[in-house]
Amino acid sequence: MEKKRILITGAAGFLGSHLCDRFLAEGMYVIGMDNLITGDLKNIEHLRSSEYFEFIHHDITKYVDISGTLDFILHFASPASPIDYLKIPIQTLKVGALGTHNLLGLAKDKEARILVASTSEVYGDPLVHPQTEEYYGNVSPVGPRGVYDEAKRFMESITMAYHRFHGVDTRIARIFNTYGPRMRLNDGRVIPAFIGQALRGEDLTVFGDGSQTRSFCFVNDQIEGIYKLLMSTYHEPVNIGNPTEISIKDFAEEIIKLTGTDQKIVYKPLPTDDPLQRRPDITKAREVLEWEPKTSRTEGMKITYDYFKNLPEAELYKKEH
Ligand code: NAD
Ligand code: UDP
Repeated sequence: MEKKRILITGAAGFLGSHLCDRFLAEGMYVIGMDNLITGDLKNIEHLRSSEYFEFIHHDITKYVDISGTLDFILHFASPASPIDYLKIPIQTLKVGALGTHNLLGLAKDKEARILVASTSEVYGDPLVHPQTEEYYGNVSPVGPRGVYDEAKRFMESITMAYHRFHGVDTRIARIFNTYGPRMRLNDGRVIPAFIGQALRGEDLTVFGDGSQTRSFCFVNDQIEGIYKLLMSTYHEPVNIGNPTEISIKDFAEEIIKLTGTDQKIVYKPLPTDDPLQRRPDITKAREVLEWEPKTSRTEGMKITYDYFKNLPEAELYKKEH
């Protein structure tokens, strides 16, 4: 039987590379696409010898052309860390808007099912807690994070428009903070930031007073949720994340314990529009996908710490691109 063919954008990034692994393991032919703006070929190096994997270096804000048939598209290309999208704001807006438009056009042309990676950031600094899919959010369009949040909100709108107007078979995953091996050590997100600081013997930088909360989902759980959503028939957005919430200050203390270091916590100013609280309501994912996360923070953080600890030492001191 012919293998199903799937295009994964953002394939050299954290989530994209894990998705490539998963869909190859499901027996599909995987086309990974990336322009390497925040990704790294290292993440997919182990796949390059597979006859069922190909990599295309391409910026998806430019016309996307794939020869042959396509059954599925996973659209995961986008800067995803606050320091990345503050550094490359225009590219962030373009990949969420123009990039998504190109991929929806491709999905329509190829009659492929497409899943787009949205985010809990569509809820902005949420006034409803925990966040349900029905909540419209509290986003500042002109704030520094607006470039990411509004690009993703546009992504959701145009995806629903292609579904309603052109009948494209679409899925929308609202992904909450996910972590695990292959995150970039210096991407600025809190988990690699704290682990990197602990490994370099530096104090841990907590922004604000550390009372803001996040709910961290281990990557394997996230990938399973995305897989189930793609295979479902559900077109409305679905939250995929782990509802176990923790304050950033308590989390810093957990990392100090995990790494067995005697680093201190130092406090830095809270970035503008940094959400004060975030926790997914995953009732919909439980009901529609029969999915819920299985990995505790203790287990997931141990695996993640082992990954970072075993990276070559030079990675610890590598400057940002
Ligand atoms: P990442 O930075 O590791 O991966 C993103 C990848 O997209 C990178 O490899 C980058 O080079 C590529 N890319 C960016 N712009 C591109 C373009 N114009 N053309 C081609 N490739 C491009 O980030 P990640 O954490 O893996 O996030 C992947 C997706 O999931 C993003 O869309 C992000 O918004 C979404 N998401 C992630 C999280 C999370 O916690 N990791 C949470 C919510 C949403
Ligand atoms: N944060 C922190 N110290 C750091 C990096 C991040 O206190 O060195 C905080 C950040 O202000 C936010 C939370 O950790 O409140 C999560 O930040 P991250 O960048 O991982 O993702 P966000 O959920 O804000 O997109």
